[in-house]
Amino acid sequence: MGRRYRVVVTAPIREEGIRLLQREAEVFVFSEPPRTEEELIEAVREADGLLVSLNVEPVTSKVIESAGKLRVIARHGIGYDNVDVQAATQRGIWVTIAPVSSETVADMAFAHLLCLARKVHPATQYIKSGKWVSRNPFLFMGFDVWGKTLGIIGLGRIGQAVARRAKGFGMRVIYYDKVRRENAERELGVEFHNLEYLLRESDFVTLHVPLTPETYHMIGERELRMMKPTAILVNTSRGAIIDTQALAKALREGWIAGAGLDVFEREPLPPDDPLLTLGDDVNLTMTPHIASNTVECRVRLAVTAAEEILRVLHGEAPRFPVNPEVADVLKARKMQ
Ligand code: NAD
Repeated sequence: MGRRYRVVVTAPIREEGIRLLQREAEVFVFSEPPRTEEELIEAVREADGLLVSLNVEPVTSKVIESAGKLRVIARHGIGYDNVDVQAATQRGIWVTIAPVSSETVADMAFAHLLCLARKVHPATQYIKSGKWVSRNPFLFMGFDVWGKTLGIIGLGRIGQAVARRAKGFGMRVIYYDKVRRENAERELGVEFHNLEYLLRESDFVTLHVPLTPETYHMIGERELRMMKPTAILVNTSRGAIIDTQALAKALREGWIAGAGLDVFEREPLPPDDPLLTLGDDVNLTMTPHIASNTVECRVRLAVTAAEEILRVLHGEAPRFPVNPEVADVLKARKMQ
């Protein structure tokens, strides 16, 4: 089959996804994600599909309006806070996600949780720096995960995957969500509470809400002060859900006992970020936004995003749309 379409991919993805697209489309892959509207506008002018690799790309209304042939914007992932969905919907362009990373991200949330509870990172540094010269039964005293309370903020796909893990570890699991998840409560044995109760009661708090105007700085000074001084905060959702200045202060002054972060308000973390000024005594683990970086997950993401694009270009509805109303926009257009 000839290459009938043009698809722009905003940063390299696994070749399994690219090969799938190349069966039918001419594919242009940015080697670095475009950071300005102008760069993206230039690339999408003739594109039928746009695959948004990292969610740092500004898929603004201006970009969308300049892409006269565009029919689908597919996220290679779940968050779509960098895409102007309303502008896409108005123009009858599908915006899709690839919800195939929940288990992988849940593993990362748990990796931070366990490393912080058992001080794995400072203990590694201790051995590497040659300080381990005798056995000491009080070295790097951690605390049990078993029997503790985990507070999950946002009991969606990833939150539920974390809850399943926590149950396996013998934890009590409580959650807060703007939507009560009664099925999950029954199936997973988790309890619904308000945010304040969750923050006051939990030994570990893990964030799994999307970034929206409502969740921006959802965890600030007030919320951090509600947490137990022995509590640990884990964030694998979006950096701006936590007020970084407040978190750095909380860690420095010991309002909470530690934090595990995969995501940051500014990425990559700039050298002047307050988190980088914290001393080695602070129990902090950081990973550079890699929660979905496993070989298996990256293949699933690339193939799912590519399939969504092809599905739309073939005239079908996508499997994971974030703007299902597009079906009506397209129907109304056909009837005109
Ligand atoms: P989801 O949509 O399945 O679940 C999100 C949950 O948050 C829902 O239950 C929703 O009701 C709840 N929620 C939304 N707004 C809320 C609010 N204001 N207050 C309380 N609850 C609210 O999403 P998911 O698949 O579980 O993913 C969650 C987030 O994780 C994504 O939006 C994305 O930003 C992030 N993520 C990060 C990575 C990474 O690499 N670190 C990878 C994948 C996803």
